[in-house]
Amino acid sequence: MPVRPPKSRFIPDDYQKTIFDIDYRLMYSLGIRTLLIDLDNTVLPYDEALPGSAILDLFQSLSKQGFSVVVISNNHEPRVKTFAQAVGCPYVHSAKKPFPWGFRRALRLVPPVLPAAVCVIGDQVMTDVWGGKRLGFRVVLVDALKRNSEKWYTRLNRRWEQLALKSIEKRYPDLYDSLRLAEKR
Ligand SMILES: [Mg+2]
Repeated sequence: MPVRPPKSRFIPDDYQKTIFDIDYRLMYSLGIRTLLIDLDNTVLPYDEALPGSAILDLFQSLSKQGFSVVVISNNHEPRVKTFAQAVGCPYVHSAKKPFPWGFRRALRLVPPVLPAAVCVIGDQVMTDVWGGKRLGFRVVLVDALKRNSEKWYTRLNRRWEQLALKSIEKRYPDLYDSLRLAEKR
């Protein structure tokens, strides 16, 4: 694993195409016990409300493996609640990521752990990665499921995301390559 540069709030610890490509066993062996999982475009596209069987299976297997899982989303309560209840997880809606408040609310819903035992999983650099890294969590970045239905503020965040990725490429080329971040752009 590459050595992390000192200022790396926009750099995820890992990047995978989807939530199904993440090695959760490895994560558990690294000491991760709490997963804070973004909803929109990470688990479901904006135009779907309920999980299919693959997602239900994944969430079930995560809790069987010993993880505490919280769904954490900047979206409004009805959407987040509908999904979270379907997978049987606690949730935080209107989280205002990248600010820390929503993440702190999420951690109050599960057994207490140190920041190093928490992993954020999400599709956005400006909300999920930045928000998670500023609190000292591990962060796994995934590809957005469907970009074309994103709202204006998410599109704006994507512009910033591109700048952040470009600057990581310039300043930390080895890390950029080892995380395969070119595939995110
Ligand atoms: Mg998202």
